[in-house]
Amino acid sequence: VQVVVAVPDRHLLVGADDVVRLGGGPRENRVRPAVDALFRSAARWCGPRTIGVLLSGTLDDGAAGPAAVAERGGIALVQDPREARFPGMPAAALAVVPSATVAPAAELARLIAARAGEPVTAAGDPRELLIWETDMASDGRSSARDGGTPVALGCPYCGGGMREVRTGRAVHYACHVGHSWSPQSFLAASDDGIEEALWTAISAIQEKTTVLRERAVGAEQAADLEAARAHRAEAERDRPVRGEASRARDSAAGLTVLRSGPARPT
Ligand SMILES: [Zn+2]
Repeated sequence: VQVVVAVPDRHLLVGADDVVRLGGGPRENRVRPAVDALFRSAARWCGPRTIGVLLSGTLDDGAAGPAAVAERGGIALVQDPREARFPGMPAAALAVVPSATVAPAAELARLIAARAGEPVTAAGDPRELLIWETDMASDGRSSARDGGTPVALGCPYCGGGMREVRTGRAVHYACHVGHSWSPQSFLAASDDGIEEALWTAISAIQEKTTVLRERAVGAEQAADLEAARAHRAEAERDRPVRGEASRARDSAAGLTVLRSGPARPT
């Protein structure tokens, strides 16, 4: 038995002839290494010989990958979400991979040993989209067609147009350079963009108020009371905008709290 652990900033992938390799392709679901990239590569190259095991984790990445394993005739084993510290990933996988076997973590090793001895039939050719996605995760380029259905969504990382990719019941989005998004990771990245926009607005409003007040003080020192009154009047007119900025600050803080997500108490 050989245990291989992913290293930071590289996808851990299976390649031709069952060689385990590192990939420098785009991030998937905001991360690299990404679990779906690993599952997809095993599905492509090992097909029905693959047993994919999914444990505790947040959001819904790790759903499309086991769906690809199942689509290619492999086996998906999923930790029982009821005992997982973070039930999001196992629950999302079970929702879209009906053939997955669910079991407590303590049972999974026995299941792997039992299923590993089963004979399998040879896999057919992988679909072109799976070839494209695994090539992109590995090398950032592919001669295969990218496929999928165009959707009116821009990639949160590069702004490129995206396509909806369906693997059985699982849905994810991929841009033309290979950034890949599960629905929940896309929403989390959207929250990042909204929060950034809110802070930009708050900063601009605060800067305007600061400059108007400083100009008013400067005008008073120069005994130009009319100009001072005009600057203070403009700052006063912006009072409702500052109120909106205060509410935006609360909203931005709320987004941060929502993203951190609940953990199961231990
Ligand atoms: Zn992109």
